[in-house]
Amino acid sequence: MKIAEKIQEVREQVKEWHKEGFTVGLVPTMGYLHEGHKSLIERACKENDRVVVSVFVNPIQFGPTEDLESYPRDLEKDSALCESVGANLIFHPTPEEMYPNGFCSFVDMDVLTKELCGLSRPTHFRGVCTVVSKLFNIVKPDRAYFGEKDAQQLAVIKRMVLDLNMDIKIIGCPIVRESDGLAKSSRNTYLNPEERKAALILSKSIKAGKILFEQGETDAKKLTDAMKDIISSEPLARIDYVKTVDLLTMQQIDKLDRPFLTAIAVYIGKTRLIDNFIVQSGGNF
Ligand code: AMP
Repeated sequence: MKIAEKIQEVREQVKEWHKEGFTVGLVPTMGYLHEGHKSLIERACKENDRVVVSVFVNPIQFGPTEDLESYPRDLEKDSALCESVGANLIFHPTPEEMYPNGFCSFVDMDVLTKELCGLSRPTHFRGVCTVVSKLFNIVKPDRAYFGEKDAQQLAVIKRMVLDLNMDIKIIGCPIVRESDGLAKSSRNTYLNPEERKAALILSKSIKAGKILFEQGETDAKKLTDAMKDIISSEPLARIDYVKTVDLLTMQQIDKLDRPFLTAIAVYIGKTRLIDNFIVQSGGNF
């Protein structure tokens, strides 16, 4: 398996693949790969002839006080995982390769990016849309794979592809969890043992919210209030948000009468973690 640092190398490789009639799948990541990323790569390998995994800690999606410098990195381990699953190429550019001097073009989005994570991370989705657009232009994939773990990101990318007429199929993949329920995340490595235990409050509240809905709750506020109560019982947890939004528009809803996303962001100590559950159908719709 190849590791390419240069955009030109990727372009040449993909051109060859396309000439041979191969389909190409792309899995964009920030590296420090775990079972969650692995599930996306496996799916991409199943559905495409060739698979590119990008490993790039994208500086422009981090806010000024966020963890860009300390974000965990381990390319050697990442390439071993990609190789074991059957990916064909890792694209690992430097920030200078992606954002050379003079770079000043961005892809931005309204509405969907103003809710949930967009409130506490106002420039985050501009960074995500820009880097994903660049990756799409570089790799020209037939399909691209994103996790439901970042459900708002998935909705934003789907909307961007629709709005900007990008000819790429976006595939959402379910959340992979640790055996005790915690959603896998590269940021879980920031947690000390006491915080790791406390972090279980996220998946506990998600599970409780899901059960309430399945038992017939139709009031979004009642559902999120019950989840907030559970999270507040953990002294190390500080809520950023607990919200229920329309799955397509990311706008808050009152009644659970359409496909929806219940999403949470919670600080455990200094570490901000996210989790969610999605309901595509069921209830009264
Ligand atoms: P990241 O490296 O955190 O930017 O994540 C890269 C991709 O992997 C994104 O599409 C994430 O949604 C996805 N991902 C991260 N964690 C998980 C997980 N626990 N389960 C499923 N997908 C995940």
